[in-house]
Amino acid sequence: KVVVLGSLNMDSILRIPRLPLGGETMEMTDKSSAPGGKGANQAVAAARAGAQTSFIGKVGADDAAEVLRDALKSDNISVEHVTTDEQRGSGQAFILLQESGQNSILVYAGSNQSLSKADVDAAKDVIKDADFLISQFETPIETTTYAFEYAQSVGVTTILNPAPAIPTIPADLLKVTDLIAPNETESATITGIEVTDAASMLLNAAKFAQMGCKELIITVGARGAFYANQNGSGFVDAFKVKAVDTTAAGDTFLGALSSQLKPDFSNMREAITFANHASSITVQRLGAQPSIPTLDEIKAEYK
Ligand code: ADP
Repeated sequence: KVVVLGSLNMDSILRIPRLPLGGETMEMTDKSSAPGGKGANQAVAAARAGAQTSFIGKVGADDAAEVLRDALKSDNISVEHVTTDEQRGSGQAFILLQESGQNSILVYAGSNQSLSKADVDAAKDVIKDADFLISQFETPIETTTYAFEYAQSVGVTTILNPAPAIPTIPADLLKVTDLIAPNETESATITGIEVTDAASMLLNAAKFAQMGCKELIITVGARGAFYANQNGSGFVDAFKVKAVDTTAAGDTFLGALSSQLKPDFSNMREAITFANHASSITVQRLGAQPSIPTLDEIKAEYK
């Protein structure tokens, strides 16, 4: 059982020739929208990979709210603890996809920023019942810290995806984090050490260990994922595929990982291999949530 505490965003995917200059009006090539947000994407990935999944989050008082809720429900995710902020709009992301392949993203946090300790209090029964509680940084850090403190006190394993990256993670949050899982740029932002070769990954791991992190996974895109804990470290290669859109690769990785991982981390390599499988399918498809595979799809592709 997995509980995700985090963001829901309505994504607008705007295809444009290039970024407009100041004062310029430009025609878009294409425009579409789909539910996203790191939290919601991770929940969808966990649920599709077979985990019984619940979501704790906040939508706004607008039309997007129902679409965001329905998207989770259609993947059998419990939305009992998705509440409404009457004062703000739902979270939104504008993804500017340039012809060159470069992405620029604008995020409006909206109702995500009002996810509060009271919302965690209301969801304690669900958290208590879970194997894992996963969170990110698109909702308030104080709320995540409060939820992790409670989760650990009742024996639930906590997973932090420190994204979007911030240079300094509060010590009180690290103290209640069992597994921290950044990508390579997030890792470098936190440790101040670039992630390049194997030696640099070990240096990153040493820095995280110094900060008191017991379990670490750094995802390194097309290369795969590196993990480290008190007993040592290892690397699991990614699968060689032709990537067309890597949006939600990291979110798929984490969600899929949580569906397989044992809460004592005793099957780390196997769980990472499964997560690499799942996210290698995501990168071959366009979009965020539509591209996340089901357990049947993962099994069909990798027998
Ligand atoms: P994020 O989306 O957070 O930046 P990464 O880019 O590190 O995360 O990707 C997460 C995981 O997705 C990787 O560990 C890997 O398993 C998979 N992945 C990402 N890009 C590719 C790729 N080009 N080919 C195969 N797998 C990929």
